[in-house]
Amino acid sequence: MPTPELAVIGGGQLARMMQQSAIGLGIRVRLLAEGPDVSAAQVVPDHVVGDYTDLDTLRSVVADAPVVTFDHEHVPPEHLRALEAEGHACRPGPHALLFAQDKGAMRERLTAMGVPCPRHRMIETSADLEEFGYPAVVKTTRGGYDGKGVWVARSAAEADEAFASGRALLAEELVDFRRELSALVARSPSGEVRSYPVVESRQADGVCAEVVAPAPDLDPALADRARELGERIATELDVTGILAVELFETTDGRLLVNELAMRPHNTGHWSIDGAVTSQFENHLRGVLDLPLGSTDARAPWTVMVNVLGGAVEDLEAQRAVVLAAEPDVKVHLYGKPVKAGRKVGHVTAYGPDLDDVLARARRAAALFTVGAPHD
Ligand code: ADP
Repeated sequence: MPTPELAVIGGGQLARMMQQSAIGLGIRVRLLAEGPDVSAAQVVPDHVVGDYTDLDTLRSVVADAPVVTFDHEHVPPEHLRALEAEGHACRPGPHALLFAQDKGAMRERLTAMGVPCPRHRMIETSADLEEFGYPAVVKTTRGGYDGKGVWVARSAAEADEAFASGRALLAEELVDFRRELSALVARSPSGEVRSYPVVESRQADGVCAEVVAPAPDLDPALADRARELGERIATELDVTGILAVELFETTDGRLLVNELAMRPHNTGHWSIDGAVTSQFENHLRGVLDLPLGSTDARAPWTVMVNVLGGAVEDLEAQRAVVLAAEPDVKVHLYGKPVKAGRKVGHVTAYGPDLDDVLARARRAAALFTVGAPHD
């Protein structure tokens, strides 16, 4: 195998889609995969199968790679500091990643920066929660994803499960929001920053269901503020690669930050087909300190709909059905076994008419999930 330029830790669909961009740019990637058949291990020939919580495994993967990046935010920070001390550039670095790993640290830091966040406090007991007031959103500070580790509590009893988790907990006001937005930013170590158009993300059962780019009817002043927030957070926290800032647009027209992700993000998948430079390409350019590419949209509207595991068991067999029904919708399958509710792919449509674009993307996704077109 040729010497790698970049080590990627974690073999999920984000690493798989990074590889798609790495191929075009000729970037030599080595991957640490959780198993021999995981999504990215299928497409990165230079991969090691092992445990990302084991420092020696990480050392063997990054051995001759000058730069390390991530498919997820779960690598222990002390391991990243060890790799940095041994001369590898971790991008993003552990000092930045902390704020994507720990929602308590993130709230504290953003509040200190004057970034608007929901009212919040760390809680240890139900008396603390009582004092904070109901309704509250109780979250584990670490390890949550897709709404796991998030409880809406209108009484002490509704927080039982949260307290039983034994994890550090954060209480937040239940934000009355009109919708959720996402501001995606690419940043390189030399300080170049580029923002994508602000998008709307729609969730179902705590999981991102679809993303519309740009967010329809967004007040241009609010869009500018969202982009500014994203760029400021990326710069002040020294994020490299992609930063996703998940935002609430409140019913009274304010923006509040929900959370941060420091890697390509589900709300940026639309950019593969819908932007001049995809978030995966700009993530690679960012972490390797190459010039960033244009984040402009290619079409007036782009819609991404996630394919969640459903009634269709054989996605590859269903592919022909989808392509026959929607030949212009772009299909992305992740090579993952179908399990109910699991993200196993996404589809993207773009064009001049939002209703048409939305309908085509939803129809294609429905053919992959329930097997029949969506109304
Ligand atoms: P995860 O890390 O699992 O994505 P989030 O903190 O993003 O967790 O919360 C998941 C979802 O729960 C959000 O997308 C949003 O719909 C809802 N949510 C989270 N925090 C609040 C809040 N303070 N007020 C209202 N809804 C919230």
